[in-house]
Amino acid sequence: MSIIIKTREEIELMRESALSVSRTLGMIASEIKPGVTSLYLDKLAETFIRDHGGIPAFKGLYGFPNTLCMSLNEAVVHGIPTDKPLKEGDIISVDCGVLKNGFYGDHAYTFAVGEIKPEIQKLLDVTKEALYLGIEQMRSGNRIGDISYAIQTHAEKHGYGVVRELVGHGLGKKMHEDPEVPNYGKRGDGPKLRDGMVLAIEPMINMGKKNIKQLSDGWTILTADGLPSAHFEHDVALVDGKPDILSTFEYIEEALKKK
Ligand code: MG
Ligand code: MG
Repeated sequence: MSIIIKTREEIELMRESALSVSRTLGMIASEIKPGVTSLYLDKLAETFIRDHGGIPAFKGLYGFPNTLCMSLNEAVVHGIPTDKPLKEGDIISVDCGVLKNGFYGDHAYTFAVGEIKPEIQKLLDVTKEALYLGIEQMRSGNRIGDISYAIQTHAEKHGYGVVRELVGHGLGKKMHEDPEVPNYGKRGDGPKLRDGMVLAIEPMINMGKKNIKQLSDGWTILTADGLPSAHFEHDVALVDGKPDILSTFEYIEEALKKK
């Protein structure tokens, strides 16, 4: 394993890449409603990214066909956009990657389509909380396992399942760098955290059991029990011993307030 440490200058370039994703997700937030298709949103995102000087980073990555991973309800991650209209009460996890100035941004948000059931809203809230609790642990002297433990503990406290097979990761000139950042684990385990590390931290939390299966499209990951799943992801640098969140949900939250 080789963890690539970034300079301050590189971290500022990565902030630009991360914010390109944030702005794209903010644009998507204002467009999500019952009746629109994920394929339509995908096209909007591709145009938006290119118009702002970025390259849609998922398109063609390992052969993925689209700009956004759009994972509906029981889909955990890696969903392929479709021409099926979104319905009131759905949730959709939107994961987006942008390549800009040679560096990748990669983050995700799970959106409600119209009104959703309170128990599903709770799944979204707890998954987002778990993300921020994990980020808080990204401090010099801590280890990857401290992030993992914080996420797992919060999710399981609410009776949710933590996906094991898919994990967060280092981020930089490659979309997936070392180290892996599991959403489960023990305090004090794994690589030591130090200044200049940039991680994509991304809890994938199931309302039911942790088990998953893959759809026959070769991409979409589904919960094995068919219950909903949520996914929130931020890009975080370790600067002066503390977490510096390069991406932001502010654009999304502003767009949702206006609805
Ligand atoms: Mg992602
Ligand atoms: Mg990621």
